[in-house]
Amino acid sequence: MNAAPERLVTPKRSDEDAAELALRPQTLDDFIGQKQVRENLKIFITAAKGRGEALDHVLLHGPPGLGKTTMAQIVAREMGVGFRATSGPVIQKAGDLAAQLTNLQPHDVLFIDEIHRLNPAIEEVLYPAMEDFQLDLMIGEGPAARSVRIELPPFTLVGATTRSGLMTRPLRERFGIPLRMVFYEPAELETIVQRAARVLKMSLAPDGSAEIAKRSRGTPRVANRLLRRVRDFAAVAGDADVDARVADEALTRLEVDGRGLDAMDRRYLACIAENYGGGPVGAETLAAALSEQRDVIEDVIEPYLMQLGLLMRTPRGRLLSEAGYRHLGMAMPRGQKQQLDLLAAGDPAEDA
Ligand code: ADP
Repeated sequence: MNAAPERLVTPKRSDEDAAELALRPQTLDDFIGQKQVRENLKIFITAAKGRGEALDHVLLHGPPGLGKTTMAQIVAREMGVGFRATSGPVIQKAGDLAAQLTNLQPHDVLFIDEIHRLNPAIEEVLYPAMEDFQLDLMIGEGPAARSVRIELPPFTLVGATTRSGLMTRPLRERFGIPLRMVFYEPAELETIVQRAARVLKMSLAPDGSAEIAKRSRGTPRVANRLLRRVRDFAAVAGDADVDARVADEALTRLEVDGRGLDAMDRRYLACIAENYGGGPVGAETLAAALSEQRDVIEDVIEPYLMQLGLLMRTPRGRLLSEAGYRHLGMAMPRGQKQQLDLLAAGDPAEDA
């Protein structure tokens, strides 16, 4: 049902991406892009270290594959503390969270990926842990049940989420340092791809890295994956050096177009254009029409299409922009443009 993992351009993690480990930057200075996030973290880390305290809790939000996990590891390394990782859906019981928390050393980083998927009952356990470094647990059941309080060492929670809007407000507000990760600029992705090519010992011409960068959806994970695929094509074709031509041939064959859209993205755009007159159409309807999960549509497909200006989210649903029609080689129908202007000016509180 979930087609995303097979997509070459999916920014979600796949098994093959284990090779990423060698490519992960290790320090804030090594980390390319996300200038604002880096600068903020540098200040807060320096201040926390100066005071000899744990760093305040950090919330990283942004689309998948932009380096949230990498950044969390860097935070621990820069603070000179231990790092433990888990994720929202993995923590099933309060006891699972308690086990993680009680194993921390003072000032350690606990990383919770997909924190918006944490069970609400567990969230409640997290509040006093984050605020007062205390854990209130119920032991036993029925009349014999009693509550115990456990003191925790001061620690730093680093939460990552693709959808901060789905987090409850009390949880969001307990993070002193909320940081937003943004799509990378092509020049930054070129640098990332060049460095990955050096690690992989492949010969990559500057125009080759530029070609891969501009087709990587602003996402380092996608850039690294496309690089490996291009390398495979080049090896089979007997091209020792990868330049723009070799990269273009490989990526075109893999159906990744000039702006990084794959068949799924085009199917999504075409569905709005052809079945819903260009929109507005709700996410749920599109998910059903495309047999795709709604969260894949919202987390993976839409953010990049919006970044490119091909798609707009309006109060009444998704709308194709003029550029979206153009990308499909279609003209925007008369009347749709007027509707688009009206809807775009609507009340965001009713967002679909
Ligand atoms: P997220 O947690 O946001 O899904 P990750 O931290 O797992 O993303 O990053 C995905 C991969 O992309 C990493 O393994 C790393 O190889 C690469 N990566 C991410 N950010 C950078 C960067 N700034 N520079 C170089 N490589 C990066």
